[in-house]
Amino acid sequence: MARKKNDLVCSFCGRHKEETLILIAGLEGHICEGCVEQAQQIIEDELNNQRSENKRRFSMSKILKPVNIKAYLDQYVIGQDEAKKVISVAVYNHYKRLNQAVIDDVEIEKSNILMVGRTGTGKTLIARTIARFLNVPFTIVDATVFTESGYVGEDVESILSRLLQTCNYDIDAAEKGIVYIDEIDKVARKRDNPSITRDVSGEGVQQAMLKLLEGSEVLVPPQGGRKHPDQKMVRINTRDILFICGGAFDGLEKVIAKRINTKVIGFKADHITEDKEESLLRYVSPQDIKGFGLIPELIGRLPALTYLEPLDRKALRAIMTDPKNALVKQYEKLFAMEDVSLTFTEGALDFIVDKAVEFKLGARGLRSICEAIMTDAMFEIPTQNDIKEFAITADYAEEKLGHEKAKTLRVAS
Ligand code: ADP
Repeated sequence: MARKKNDLVCSFCGRHKEETLILIAGLEGHICEGCVEQAQQIIEDELNNQRSENKRRFSMSKILKPVNIKAYLDQYVIGQDEAKKVISVAVYNHYKRLNQAVIDDVEIEKSNILMVGRTGTGKTLIARTIARFLNVPFTIVDATVFTESGYVGEDVESILSRLLQTCNYDIDAAEKGIVYIDEIDKVARKRDNPSITRDVSGEGVQQAMLKLLEGSEVLVPPQGGRKHPDQKMVRINTRDILFICGGAFDGLEKVIAKRINTKVIGFKADHITEDKEESLLRYVSPQDIKGFGLIPELIGRLPALTYLEPLDRKALRAIMTDPKNALVKQYEKLFAMEDVSLTFTEGALDFIVDKAVEFKLGARGLRSICEAIMTDAMFEIPTQNDIKEFAITADYAEEKLGHEKAKTLRVAS
């Protein structure tokens, strides 16, 4: 039957307007009430499937013991034994708390973690590795972007927007995730702030974070930020979200030294003066963190406090070769994909470590130095079919790093 020009049909099932109760017009077509209902059902089924899949993935029943968690961390993180131990216990207790069957008078409190240690010593790496181990949603946020609500900058609630985004807006999954808040030391209260304006990026932000860290219902803009004022807020309970905070806390050693020297004179003093200044971090206490400018309420909500050692040459050398996804292994894999067997000589590895130490780049610098050395080889090898083996020697590394490239790395430090 020939259809009249303006005979309206459902673009999905083809029913004519008169066969439907309601025919909704879209830009390019129409949809009838029957198809809307069916689509609704499909969406619900699909979302339910995704939710149960996530429940299975994020199930806590398979959580291993602290020793196993640390053993997993050992595969990726060199050294930092104390931090790995504290974190393994904190994570274990956190998930034990989530699994507690009966709610009685003994309520296990949240074990959020605070890590202090210089930049590039592995804080983010530990947090990221833990999240991978647990297979839970994970996000990293930088505390410096936050301001007190109502001021220019992001509200702390946007931390949760990011967590939601990492798990496709699955609220159940996000509520069991891990958030790593970097540079927490940068929101320390400015004790000698001469300005009469409010400390919008310091104490105000810490106050705002309290609510998230302790566990409460928070209204979160799913798209984050204030760019989408019309978005519908979603409610997230942060009770089971594990917060790991990290910071370099430059100058903390001085605060610790001051406390120890005044308190432990004649007691442990000998032992302490023998230590290098940086290793004083091992004596860090909540009191020192308070002295640095974090408010006591926030410190109280970060009960697992631990430190990361500065990385020495030996550790840097091991970082190049030992972790499961060590830099050297990554380059070897890249070259193997071109059927080229790549090797780094001992001398080359020592040279790279020397440069990382010289430029004060730490572990973070190992990669940029390697990239500078490897660029030419990675550029040429794919078109040089006759090369089957390639060795990076100290001389080659020195030549490729060259004066100019070294200069850019040095500036970057
Ligand atoms: P931080 O968060 O302490 O500033 P990161 O964890 O981001 O430092 O470290 C930067 C990079 O340096 C990591 O991605 C990793 O490649 C390397 N790295 C740092 N510390 C270690 C470590 N202890 N073991 C293995 N790799 C490390």
